[in-house]
Formats: sequence, structure tokens, C-alpha cells
Amino acid sequence: MTSYTNADLHCHSVVSDGTLDPEALAARARTNGVDLWALTDHDEVGGQHRAAAAARAQGMAYLTGAEISVTFANTTVHIVGLGFDADDTRLIEGLARTRGGRGERAQEMAAQLAQVGIHGAYEGALRYVGNPELISRTHFARFLVEAGVCKDTSEVFRKYLIEGKPGFVPHRWATLGDAVRWITEAGGVAVIAHPARYRLSANEEFALFSEFKQHGGQAVEVVTGSHSAAEAVSYAAMAQEFGLAASRGSDFHSPDESHTDLGTLPPLPSHLTPVWDLVADRILK
Ligand code: AMP
Ligand code: MN
Ligand code: MN
Ligand code: MN
Repeated sequence: MTSYTNADLHCHSVVSDGTLDPEALAARARTNGVDLWALTDHDEVGGQHRAAAAARAQGMAYLTGAEISVTFANTTVHIVGLGFDADDTRLIEGLARTRGGRGERAQEMAAQLAQVGIHGAYEGALRYVGNPELISRTHFARFLVEAGVCKDTSEVFRKYLIEGKPGFVPHRWATLGDAVRWITEAGGVAVIAHPARYRLSANEEFALFSEFKQHGGQAVEVVTGSHSAAEAVSYAAMAQEFGLAASRGSDFHSPDESHTDLGTLPPLPSHLTPVWDLVADRILK
């Protein structure tokens, strides 16, 4: 089995809420020494063929990817899929259903912002959107910075667009079981993304990991741009406890916004099974 020393299996392009196109991301990953890469746009596989071709042009191994929005225990959880067939019809249709409703949600977000005196947010956010079906909170955050309402997007996600603050509109995403099945039935492996980011009680988190396993999920992100070193240690223990493989990904969105660049994460703890070992035959070289 090929061993990879700098896998980066989580990032976003203009096909969802990143600011670079797949080719620019591939070049940046390569420059930073990434040897196995995956583009994981939110709820969308429209960039996969371009990303695979760009990785090949850079001489970098590639796994197909997506990050699916899931509603679990009344909160949003993200499930990354890796190594699936990007032309799988059920997966493509499931993702299209998951994306559906983002337009209306965005209109409601803008209406709430207008009530606190911030006008034109829908049109403003749309200017940052690369894929009309994928208007997200990130695009609103960029508009709020541009409009001078906040100094950066982290301030936006403290004062707006989150539960209890203006511009938050809850949305019902895919179910955990559907997301895991779409990925695994398309030949891929399902991964719990950045588990430390969720506001789940200990019981709910246990339920998430148990149900994820029961549905056929096989891995968890341990080393990610969203985890501190201590969180990586604690989810390495969870991976062992639940018999899950481990993934590593920066969750890079933009040179101007992301604090973790592609290919700059610490290594996975060596006692864990790397997720790419589970989909070795799906790696495009
Ligand atoms: P949505 O899918 O429309 O709910 O948007 C979710 C996206 O918002 C995530 O994928 C992140 O890119 C971004 N986001 C959420 N919370 C934060 C945060 N605290 N800081 C920066 N970006 C965030
Ligand atoms: Mn995002
Ligand atoms: Mn995420
Ligand atoms: Mn992400």
C-alpha cells in the first residue's frame, strides 16, 4: 500500500463556498507538498472531474470528495464522503435534494438582516456565489465584511448568522443514514467531519458515533483545521473506541479567510488507520 505523508482530504472551491477554483486549489496543494488530495465541496460534486484532472496534471494522487450537510439531534453535522463514484445517480440526486431550499433560506436570512438595518444582503451575498444552487452563510459573511458591518468573517459568525443572532434560519438537511448510504453505495467511505465543532451533549455525541457506525460509516476527522491539538488527541481516542479510521484535512476555503492552509496540518497519530487505506483502490494516480 502506498503511504502518504501529506494527505489533505477536506477543502472547498468556488463550486461551494471557497474562493479558489479547483485548478488553483490543486496547484496550491501541490506547492504546499500535498501528496494525496480531495476537494470536498458542500453538497455538490460538480467540481470533481476538474479537480481530478487538475490533480493528475500536478502529479498528485486524488480521492473524490464531498461534504454533506446533515441534520442530527436538531443541529447541523457534516459528513465527508471520499473515494465514491462522482457520477453515481443516487448520490447526485441526493445532493441536489440536500441543496434544495438554500435559495429560499437565503431570502429569509436577508429579510432578518434587513430587520436589523442591513439591507441588500441577498444581492450582496449573491455576488460572491460561484454556484447559484449553493448560496451559503459564508457568502453572506463575505458581504457583511464588505459592507463594513464586521471586520472579518469570524466576527460575522459570532454576531450574525448563528442560532440566536440575526440572519440565522434553521434548515433541514439530509438525514445521517441517507448521507452515509449515498456515499457508501457509490463506493466511497463516510467520515464524520470536524466532530469538535458540534454543539452536542456527551449522550448526543455518543449517539452520533454509534448511529454513524450502524449506517456503515467508517472514519472520523481527527486532524483538521477546525481542531486544536487537544481536540485531535481526544478524537484520536474516539476513533479507537469506535473502531473508526482517521482522516486529515485543512477545511481550507480561502487565502484571505482560512487560518489553516492546504497541506500544513500535523500528521495523523501513527497508531490510527488512515482513511485512505480503506479506499486504496479508489485513489486516482
Ligand atoms: P451553510 O451551509 O450555509 O449553513 O454554511 C456553513 C458554512 O459557514 C461552513 O461550511 C463554513 O464555511 C462557514 N462557517 C460556519 N461557522 C463558521 C465560523 N464560526 N467561522 C467561519 N466560518 C464558518
Ligand atoms: Mn464552508
Ligand atoms: Mn464543515
Ligand atoms: Mn468544510
